[in-house]
Amino acid sequence: MSDGTRPKVLVLGAGFAGLGAARKLRKAPVDVVIVDRHDYHTFQPLLYQVATDVLDPVTVGHPVRDLVHTQDNLDFAQATITGIDLDARTVTFDDWDPQGYDYLVVGLGARANFFGTTGADDHAFPLYTLPQAVRLKQHLLTRFEEAAKRPALVDEGHLDVVVVGGGPTGVETAGALSELFFNVFPEDYPSIDTSRIGITLVEHGDRLLAMFDEGISEYTLETLTERRVTVRLGERVEAIDADGVDLGSGERIAAGTTIWGAGLQPVPLASELGVELVRGRVPVDEFLRLEHHPEVFVVGDMAVATDTRSGEVLPQLGSVALQAGEHVGVTIDRLERKHADPRPFHYLDKGTMATIGRQAAVAVIPPHHLTLTGRAAWAMWGAVHLALLTGGDSRMAALTNWFWSFTTHDRPARVLIHPDDED
Ligand SMILES: Cc1cc2nc3c(=O)[nH]c(=O)nc-3n(C[C@H](O)[C@H](O)[C@H](O)COP(=O)(O)OP(=O)(O)OC[C@H]3O[C@@H](n4cnc5c(N)ncnc54)[C@H](O)[C@@H]3O)c2cc1C
Repeated sequence: MSDGTRPKVLVLGAGFAGLGAARKLRKAPVDVVIVDRHDYHTFQPLLYQVATDVLDPVTVGHPVRDLVHTQDNLDFAQATITGIDLDARTVTFDDWDPQGYDYLVVGLGARANFFGTTGADDHAFPLYTLPQAVRLKQHLLTRFEEAAKRPALVDEGHLDVVVVGGGPTGVETAGALSELFFNVFPEDYPSIDTSRIGITLVEHGDRLLAMFDEGISEYTLETLTERRVTVRLGERVEAIDADGVDLGSGERIAAGTTIWGAGLQPVPLASELGVELVRGRVPVDEFLRLEHHPEVFVVGDMAVATDTRSGEVLPQLGSVALQAGEHVGVTIDRLERKHADPRPFHYLDKGTMATIGRQAAVAVIPPHHLTLTGRAAWAMWGAVHLALLTGGDSRMAALTNWFWSFTTHDRPARVLIHPDDED
């Protein structure tokens, strides 16, 4: 590993952005250290499948060490970053010595934004991390086990769910819950009348999946409605408690579970980078560098970057984070190995897609804006996510579980394991 004479690249965050950067530095004459509070990389697009028992947590969280051990100039440290001192070029951690750097790559992602909604901190289930997905899964299974013993709970809203947000996270989660509650659980819980369970998706805007065109929004609304999800458009959730939500219109929806998929905010460390946040994200130049600090790059969900060709602000997507991270890795490599100038970042849009449930998805494929819905989009969604999933073992596990769930309506991952349980 490091002999201390080569430039040191400190990569904060082992998400799509951080790992993308670290891997592109494989041949660079630098020593790279990547740090994350978790010892695994999270494949966020499939978190809702952990929460709905399709996939095991280990399929969606892959050990970082397994991903970096083949790269000689790369090391990993599990630690929580507590501070960034740009002037001293030093990063501090909860239980590790402060680390200096020659280049700093910051890819710490984002976190759920409850927009000040009363009670959300205590009662909403966000779906941004693996622990959050496991918590939601455990909560739902526990509720069903309770209702199996006391079926009257069903009529008290014990099993009802409100999903807040009509973007991809909300739509994918609502569709997966419908499949779980109405196609899988009737056999698992014969004492529960699942037809009396309500799933409600609340969206403040006037359509679902607003980043797509209106036809896709209508298809999504029809498909969810057919699958017994009640969609409430133009409504805002004002308050959340353990038994339901209050809407802005004054209406109350009883629900034992409220899932939050309605927005992101920066991680607190974003405010330590000495710049005013734009749209809650850290502004960067065309090379993804921080103003006044050419040795610091900010990438992924944390950054607000503008595409150099289209002039558009890039969305908070895994594909953007990965490409931005890789671009930074290539940039540092060019600076150190080839002594060449950095190149501006250009995002290559390979398509946008979202799944609504079994055999239903939407996809828009550039450059001619080819729009797919239904089975074709669903098959494409599956193939793309399988290809992107980190690690061959995770891909194989996902393929096996998807095939099994699809053919049997069974959920092999639906077990309740509490680490604190008695042996
Ligand atoms: C439910 C859901 C579904 C999604 N679906 C899609 C999709 O279908 N397609 C798509 O393109 N994108 C999707 N996205 C978005 C995509 O997952 C994100 O854009 C992407 O993960 C951002 O990557 P990142 O590297 O910037 O951040 P992250 O992947 O969030 O990584 C940040 C890392 O930083 C670490 N970290 C944060 N703070 C600290 C700290 N203080 N100390 C140590 N470590 C820290 C975290 O543990 C994490 O590993 C989805 C997101 C969610 C939440």
